[in-house]
Amino acid sequence: MRTFDIVVIGAGPAGAVFAKSISKEFSVACIDKKSDDEGSFKKPCGGLLAPDGQKALSELGLNLPKSVLVDPQIFSVRTIDLDSGMTRHYQRMYINCDRHRFDRWLMSGIEENVTLFCGTVTKIEKQDKRYIITFIENKKEQKLSAKFIVGADGAKSGVRKFLNPDYRCRQYLSIQQWFEDKHPKPFYSCIFDSENTDCYSWAVSKDGLFIFGGAYPLKSGKEAFLRQKKKLCKKGFVFGEPIKTEACLVLRPQKSSDFYFGKENAFLIGEAAGLISPSSLEGISSAIISGKALAEAFNTKKNIRREYENSIRPLKRKLLFKNFKCPFLYQPFLRNLVMKSGISSIKVSEKNQ
Ligand SMILES: Cc1cc2nc3c(=O)[nH]c(=O)nc-3n(C[C@H](O)[C@H](O)[C@H](O)COP(=O)(O)OP(=O)(O)OC[C@H]3O[C@@H](n4cnc5c(N)ncnc54)[C@H](O)[C@@H]3O)c2cc1C
Repeated sequence: MRTFDIVVIGAGPAGAVFAKSISKEFSVACIDKKSDDEGSFKKPCGGLLAPDGQKALSELGLNLPKSVLVDPQIFSVRTIDLDSGMTRHYQRMYINCDRHRFDRWLMSGIEENVTLFCGTVTKIEKQDKRYIITFIENKKEQKLSAKFIVGADGAKSGVRKFLNPDYRCRQYLSIQQWFEDKHPKPFYSCIFDSENTDCYSWAVSKDGLFIFGGAYPLKSGKEAFLRQKKKLCKKGFVFGEPIKTEACLVLRPQKSSDFYFGKENAFLIGEAAGLISPSSLEGISSAIISGKALAEAFNTKKNIRREYENSIRPLKRKLLFKNFKCPFLYQPFLRNLVMKSGISSIKVSEKNQ
């Protein structure tokens, strides 16, 4: 069995940034199930990099390559309130990316002190203060041993389940479908519809395709998604036959205990730790920030947990604070007042919509 100082499970933005930022003095293995192969796992995502994510990349000294971008870049979001029937446009500074290419680009900068494995982790155990990680690579079972483990395996984290089976956080079923874009013009949209979800839905044009997705209650998600599509047809959305349907869990933290950073020599980063915005479900920036923060905590060689939890506290506070913004977005009466007032909205002439 190969042994390492640290085994990272998951190489999304959190795990990839951790693996890029960890000192070469550590021997590190990083396991992720995705690859460049056709049919490989692709994280369902809107692929919009918000200003906080842009800032987090700048702090790593990273410039986004053209190969990650998709066409077109759009600077406003058409916000549709299906409860009141009102539509407004708001300026937004997202970067429209191909999420899979974004993840693969982040992984490409991982240095040779980190051994990358393409496989699916199936089991984690603890034996005599070391962690034993079992994974399947090319249909073959392998085991690694490590002094530390880092769970960067997203919303449905197996590492979190191993460490804290009682962890509970508000969760939604996120469903996305991809279509050929048949709208007269590409656009971004954000949809509120309290009949179908107390969260929100989105539409994003990407390289001639059109993604429609949303976060729905776990039990009735599929029906809510289909009902909402029907309502949006009346608002001019054109769906047609889906090219691809994807679904996954998404967390929506509400209280301090929804953030969990692990215990003993096991650490959680990114959405595995509950780090995602409860107001916008934007999670790429928190993943990058926490991946960097944990690597820096290891690099100090002091008390890793204390260093990590201290440096992540402002992010945790910021995400908790976003819950105060939620009623103005998700409470139909307050949202209606805000949209009616026109505060911060921009005028887009009807001819150009
Ligand atoms: C539909 C949808 C749309 C979203 N849109 C946006 C958006 O536009 N902008 C934004 O900022 N955020 C968005 N988010 C949130 C964002 O995608 C996540 O918060 C972010 O990806 C979290 O990053 P992460 O690195 O923590 O985890 P992830 O990106 O989920 O990465 C986890 C990694 O772990 C790997 N993994 C998991 N389990 C195993 C296993 N057992 N074995 C091996 N590997 C494993 C996976 O392959 C994956 O690469 C969206 C979320 C959803 C669900």
